[in-house]
Amino acid sequence: DVTDTKGNEFEDYYLRRELLMGIFEQGFEKPSPIQEEAIPVALAGRDILARAKNGTGKTAAFMIPALEKVDTSRNVIQCLVLVPTRELALQHAQVCKNLGKRIEGLQVMTSTGGTSLKDDIMRLYQPVHILIATPGRVLDLADKNILKLGQCKFMVMDEADKLLSNEFTPVLEQIITRHLPKTRQICLFSATFPVAVKGFRDRFQKKPYEINLMEELTLQGLTQYYAYVEEAKKVHCLNTLFSRLQINQSIIFCNSTNRVELLAKKITQLGYSCFYIHAKMPQDQRNRVFHDFRSGKCRNLVSSDLFTRGIDVQAVNVVINFDFPKSSETYLHRVGRSGRFGHRGLAINMITHDDRFNLYKIEQELGTQIGPIPPLVDKSLY
Ligand code: ADP
Ligand code: MG
Repeated sequence: DVTDTKGNEFEDYYLRRELLMGIFEQGFEKPSPIQEEAIPVALAGRDILARAKNGTGKTAAFMIPALEKVDTSRNVIQCLVLVPTRELALQHAQVCKNLGKRIEGLQVMTSTGGTSLKDDIMRLYQPVHILIATPGRVLDLADKNILKLGQCKFMVMDEADKLLSNEFTPVLEQIITRHLPKTRQICLFSATFPVAVKGFRDRFQKKPYEINLMEELTLQGLTQYYAYVEEAKKVHCLNTLFSRLQINQSIIFCNSTNRVELLAKKITQLGYSCFYIHAKMPQDQRNRVFHDFRSGKCRNLVSSDLFTRGIDVQAVNVVINFDFPKSSETYLHRVGRSGRFGHRGLAINMITHDDRFNLYKIEQELGTQIGPIPPLVDKSLY
């Protein structure tokens, strides 16, 4: 349970006053278990390899130490947070600015692919203390000697498993070996840890403190159902769900960008408000959709797997897999979009004949149960 802690208080970490105020002003009363484990160790300067469930507060677990370590009287980048997507960089920057809003002179910058390089270059003429970025852009700017990381002693990799997938691994290694100082602290956070992470750990981390809060991977607070449905009847099924469920906000996942757009069109035709987002959309459009959905301008969002990682929208109480995912990892990341931080949530999976075996496999792998959807879903469950 995310509320099942050691009983620590934020006051126990001897954080500077301005930071403590920022934390409390965010409405955080007590550290979550991952925060209790990670904050003191990160503050003590040790490398960390942390695994914890979705929605348990990993962002603040590294952002609080980052904010404590930063000395705003020194105008150099002191902390680098790497993330796999642009959306996540923007979201983390907001968390960082919120928690650090009382810290005088604090400068947080995001830098990601898909935005103008020139803007980044201009921005880097001004002081930056914490940089939140995607790896490709960081390497690009650092290789051009525009971005200076020589004083950056604290690096965080969030969604580390994704960062260490094939496309990013060489980039990360180059950032570290070419641009970071020799004495540095590297902390990895993720909900899933494939082998690539172990290889990275052995090569780049110094006796990392390993945190694993995943043993009981129960998808707590989340009720999961499947609806057995023919492909051609999926839209009809969705329409029924919309009329029967009390959706606060929902995310509906499809397995391809084409299907995302088609479904969004059909949902709109049914008379429900709906946005869509996928990786092939222009960045500014993605930002706008993401922002508008978060601020509640729209009830439903149709998404590709672009949206599965790390994104935190607390108002989402229902996730629908319009297309059932192929792997249990994807399943976990998708359904983790609801039921955040101990809130309740509902995940509904549309299962066609071909998905049956996969459903069984994912249930087994995650040690969870996905039952048939009852005619009436108890509102108290979500
Ligand atoms: P994760 O990265 O582990 O999936 P997030 O860092 O996105 O989770 O946090 C999930 C939600 O929990 C966020 O909305 C965040 O504001 C909230 N949260 C984090 N830490 C605390 C805390 N100590 N007390 C209350 N809410 C918290
Ligand atoms: Mg996260």
